[in-house]
Parts: sequence; structure tokens; C-alpha cells
Amino acid sequence: MTAFLTRRDFAAGSAALALAGCTNLASRPIAGSAAPTCLPRLDVAPDRVIRSVAGLRPYRRSGYRVEMEAVGEKRVVHNYGHGGGGISLSWGSSREALVLGLPGHYGPVAVLGAGALGLTCARLLQEAGYQANIYAKALPPNTTSNIAGGQILPSTHFEREHVTEEWLAKERLAADYTRRRMQIDVGEDYGIRWIATYDQGHRTLRPDLRPFYPGRESLAPDAHPFPADRVDRYMTMYVETGRWLASLLRDVRIAGGGVAVREFRDRAELATLSETLIFNCTGLGSHELFGDEVLEPVRGQLAILIPQPEVQYAYSASPGYMFPRPDGIVLGGTFEHGEWQAEPQPEDIAAIVERHRDWLAGWRCGAQG
Ligand SMILES: Cc1cc2nc3c(=O)[nH]c(=O)nc-3n(C[C@H](O)[C@H](O)[C@H](O)COP(=O)(O)OP(=O)(O)OC[C@H]3O[C@@H](n4cnc5c(N)ncnc54)[C@H](O)[C@@H]3O)c2cc1C
Repeated sequence: MTAFLTRRDFAAGSAALALAGCTNLASRPIAGSAAPTCLPRLDVAPDRVIRSVAGLRPYRRSGYRVEMEAVGEKRVVHNYGHGGGGISLSWGSSREALVLGLPGHYGPVAVLGAGALGLTCARLLQEAGYQANIYAKALPPNTTSNIAGGQILPSTHFEREHVTEEWLAKERLAADYTRRRMQIDVGEDYGIRWIATYDQGHRTLRPDLRPFYPGRESLAPDAHPFPADRVDRYMTMYVETGRWLASLLRDVRIAGGGVAVREFRDRAELATLSETLIFNCTGLGSHELFGDEVLEPVRGQLAILIPQPEVQYAYSASPGYMFPRPDGIVLGGTFEHGEWQAEPQPEDIAAIVERHRDWLAGWRCGAQG
């Protein structure tokens, strides 16, 4: 069965909501909700779907991997396996990789991969004064990173019982640094903005991630129009991933970075590179290239609806999540472990749309919303 979850449910490993695909989401009356505060209403219908996409999250239950290994004469620094949080961890994880790999190195540096991790890695290398040369099987817009919904909130990328306190501390630093970098780039150029997220929440937040939910407050039923008893609201950054990645690739090129389309079939091929230091940012590609058996795909499918510029809020609720982007309303989503086929399944896309539509049928505002 396809699992329909919010990004946070998945992080929390909630078995109850993993079964949400079987639950009737039709709304029920909300206590004490005479005149709720209104928001522009989302228009969800099958004929408003402008495209559907699927991507394979590079998931490791033991968390993303930043480690160095010797491959022949080369030093390879791995920087992959960020599951459903690779955008939210990108800058920080790449910085962690540089701190590990750069000391004592002189000369050009190779970066394998041109997704969120490869591009942020290349930019940080350039900022540190190094010649960065990217080699990638595919460039934006043809990466998994381009599929991402774009919420800047690390989630859905590990299982608590499989990570150490030491790893968690590094992950927290990576998330924090990413959040700071993203704030510097807020605006049209990189497609990053702050908007309010309404969360049908009643789950305990990771205490160390509290700063990631600024302005968080629980709303009384009359303070929101959603068909839910308990709704929290906080501010979150969202990135229009296509625009962000295109801008990063542009920045790499402007700063003199090399960009070559090239696929590596096995680690022995790395010997053909002239660079002696290599950052491996190949995402799920590391399963085959470096034989990482822990790394598995978690497929995510999204339905994208006609843009609604008046919708300036996001939600995360029982039917899944909704992120409003200039290039379309993003409705998520699925988390399908071990699924290698990166193709949207029409029946799953239809189910995503139906779940959101059914839930929103309980919208507690008039037609004008
Ligand atoms: C539906 C969906 C929604 C998501 N939503 C979010 C979200 O809201 N927020 C968030 O933070 N994250 C989200 N993610 C997760 C995020 O997309 C990933 O964690 C992130 O894209 C991983 O980036 P990456 O650079 O490691 O991998 P990729 O983007 O896959 O880039 C890998 C690069 O390596 C190259 N490569 C691979 N193999 C080889 C090889 N053998 N030789 C040469 N090059 C190779 C590829 O061509 C590509 O250029 C989502 C993912 C999905 C699927």
C-alpha cells in the first residue's frame, strides 16, 4: 500500500498515520467554531492538476553520510543520503564535508553530482578559494532535488533508534547553518520566502529543533478555517526548488566552476579524474557507485495544481502537505520505501488530490473564504 504521510509524521515514525490512506478524511463539526478567521481557499480538483512528479529520496535510516575514504590515490569525501531533508540540510552538510576534506589540500577539487548537495558543495569550495569542477550524470532540472517540495525544515531523513547522539548534534548544526544561508538568499532570485505553515499538530517537537518553528502558537478553533480540532501555526521558509537550483548552477559557473555531464559507473573510474580530492554528492547514485546497501529509495509523488497566488500559507495535515509555490500548488505526498521506479502513478496522484479535496470540504469559511 502506498503510504500517505505528512513530512513530520514520517520523521516521527507514526504507525497510526501510515495507515491514513485508509481513513475517511471527510470533515466533522469543530467545537466552538462559530466564526472562524478566514484564509483564501485552496481550489482542489482533478482538472486543476497541471503536472505530477515522482522522485526517489536517498534515504538512510542511519542518517546522511559525511565521511572520508581513500580510493586509490584519491581522497573521497562522501556527502549523500539526506532522505526527505536534503534541501533543508544542504548548505550545512556540505560545510561539514568541507571541514572534513579540505585541511591540507591544494589544487582543484572535483564534485560528483549537481543536486542540492553538489551545488552547495561547489559554491562553498569556491567561497573558500578553490577551483570546483562538477561532474554529474544529470544537471538541473533533471535531478531529484528539482522534485522536492521545498520546505526548509529537516525531516524524514533518519530513524531515531539508528543514529547516535554525535550524529544528531552534527545534523542539528547542518540544519542550523542551512537555515542561516537560506535566510541570506530570501527573495525572488533564489525563490526563497517565509510563509505561515498551519500544522494539524499534536505531536511533540524535537526539543533541539524548537528554533525551527518560529512564532509557533496553538490556534483556537475560531482562529483558523481548517477542519481540525487542533492547529498550530509557525513560520517556515520555502524554496521554489527549480529556481533555486538554476540560480546555484549559474553562480557556480559565474565563479569559474567547471560543469561536465559525465556518469561514473564504478569507483575505479575515479582514477581518471585529474583532481585528487573528490566530494561525492551523488545522492541515491551512491547505492551503486559506492555499494552503499544501507541507502534505499523512498519514492515521493506530488500532484501540482494551477498556481493560486492568493494562497500565501502552507499546511501539513492528515491528507498530506500543501506548499504554495509560484510555479504551482504542491500537494504531497507519498513515502514509499524500496520503490525504485521514479514515475508518478496515476492512481496515487488521483488519491492525493482526492484526500486533500475531501479534507478541505470541511473548510469553515464561506465561499469567498
Ligand atoms: C517528493 C519529494 C519531496 C521532497 N521534499 C523535500 C522538502 O520539502 N524539503 C527538503 O529538504 N527535502 C525534500 N526532499 C528531499 C530532497 O529532494 C533530497 O534529499 C535531495 O534532493 C538530495 O539531494 P542530492 O543532491 O543528494 O541528490 P540529487 O538531487 O539526486 O543529485 C544527485 C546528483 O548526482 C548525480 N549522479 C548520480 N549518480 C551519478 C553517477 N554514477 N555519476 C555521476 N553523477 C551521478 C545526479 O545526476 C545528480 O546530478 C524531497 C524529495 C522528494 C522526492
